[in-house]
Amino acid sequence: MHDTVIRGATIVDGTGKPGFTGDVALDGDKIAQVGGKAGPSKRDIQADGLMVTPGWVDAHTHYDGQATWDSQLAPSSWHGVTTILFGNCGVGFAPVKKRDHSALIGLMESIEEIPGVVLDEGLKWNWETFPEYLNALEQRQRTIDIGAQIAHHPLRVYVMGDRAINREPANADDIAQMRDAVRAGLEAGAFGFTTSRTNSHKTPTGEMVPSRYSEVDELVGIGQAFKNLGYGAYGVNSDFEHEAEELEWMTKVAKETGRPVWFLLTDRPNDPERWQRLMSGVHSARKQGAMVTAQIAGRPVGVMLGVDTNLNPFSIRPSWQDLLKLPPEQRLARMQDPAFRAKLLGEEHSPELLKRLSQFRQYITTSWDRMFPMGSPPNYEPHPDESIGAMSKRSNRTPEEIAYDYLAAGADKFLYFPIVGYNGGNHEVIRAMLSDETTILGLSDGGAHCSSIVDASVPSWMLIHWARDRSRGPKFSVENLVKRQTSETARFFGLNDRGVLAAGMKADLNVFNFDGLRLHAPEVAYDLPKGGRRLLQRVDGYHHTFVSGTETWQNGEHTGALPGRLVRAGR
Ligand SMILES: [Zn+2]
Repeated sequence: MHDTVIRGATIVDGTGKPGFTGDVALDGDKIAQVGGKAGPSKRDIQADGLMVTPGWVDAHTHYDGQATWDSQLAPSSWHGVTTILFGNCGVGFAPVKKRDHSALIGLMESIEEIPGVVLDEGLKWNWETFPEYLNALEQRQRTIDIGAQIAHHPLRVYVMGDRAINREPANADDIAQMRDAVRAGLEAGAFGFTTSRTNSHKTPTGEMVPSRYSEVDELVGIGQAFKNLGYGAYGVNSDFEHEAEELEWMTKVAKETGRPVWFLLTDRPNDPERWQRLMSGVHSARKQGAMVTAQIAGRPVGVMLGVDTNLNPFSIRPSWQDLLKLPPEQRLARMQDPAFRAKLLGEEHSPELLKRLSQFRQYITTSWDRMFPMGSPPNYEPHPDESIGAMSKRSNRTPEEIAYDYLAAGADKFLYFPIVGYNGGNHEVIRAMLSDETTILGLSDGGAHCSSIVDASVPSWMLIHWARDRSRGPKFSVENLVKRQTSETARFFGLNDRGVLAAGMKADLNVFNFDGLRLHAPEVAYDLPKGGRRLLQRVDGYHHTFVSGTETWQNGEHTGALPGRLVRAGR
């Protein structure tokens, strides 16, 4: 007698092979049978017309803090994600000394846009070392499984103190200490190490983040922690100011350790050929036997601009600062006042506020051709003719007027700003990246950019858009897309017990109506600790999600079950 049998679904098993009809049987926390007719069970799920897949494995999130206080881990858990990794982009909360708690909160706030007050309220700091952080994570049960990576910023501050904050270079002793701490973290079950070398990461005072100036010696030195270990990946978020040098040290680390080194790859507006150069860098590294990999985003990284988001085209004008003191409804009411509208539209950006923004954010507030009214369901591949700039050219209204009036119509109105990955005004570059089998899917950034980006929905959207609804170019098979976000992400990070529907594998799976998957427009919620604000996004169409054989979500409702655990790498 099986515990659960999902009967008659189309089975897309995560390997990429064509879907087929049959039963999936679950016993305890494992899959017992895939395909054919399964015997009797305590619970039958009639799934004719539905699809069954492995649960999504999302390797790029930032729930480092949230995972310590929240068991639900929305919105990722709403979207069929059953395993997440965090500790990405070089930021995290361990290791840490007591005196540096607020410095790490400040970094996470400025880089990943998670409000400092939320972190301050939520984080209990019952750890110092990374292994202790893992132990603290292990205390809580959740809807989904979690895994952690060691982040460079906290590590550097832990070892170097103020010298890290002041961005001084690491000496040989510092590097040895960092390497040893990474080794200890990996041995305790970290899935890897991540660093960040990017200008878009500024601290609250506008300074570059501590690891930005790390020298190559330091990066290669820390990489030695992976030697003779057999698991773990090394992640890099870089501007690639010196492409050859960056690729060279990554190749060196990958070769010396035999472990994958991955970097974030997006198509940047200021350098449209960049992604191709970096992809050929990956291919030549691979030819040398170095497992260098580009981690890509399945859709353009999209910033939401609204009256109640971090940024909008007016948020750095002086009069907007007065609006910020009001709750969203009153803010909207004030915006309807013609005198206020005239005053705000007559103003320039405040140079002082502009200066505090990173380059990316400066660009966001001033580029009308990249702002698109976002519908419901949201359109993530709008035609360039639909931009605020294009609408203005067709009318006698300025872009400012069009954007203002659109946003003033309600708190649920957002302008979509595809910040990277949208050169050419379509998804063709992303399609090319997705077509390259050396890339790995990631960058949903779940848990981060609380009031500006909500790409935690990407796993659902990959199927909706790329396998079903795309109208402006070719699509991918659902089998390919399922493989991309299950077995591929799982294997890459050494999660070998999941990502494929097969007998003996962990029973993490989704049962959904492929034709009925529907993404809602983003919404603003104030449900973080201290009433902190975040963007959420819901989806229809998932009937059942299982983690370790236990149903966690049914038709969008949490069943109350918390089978999710901390996963330790190398076990
Ligand atoms: Zn990230």
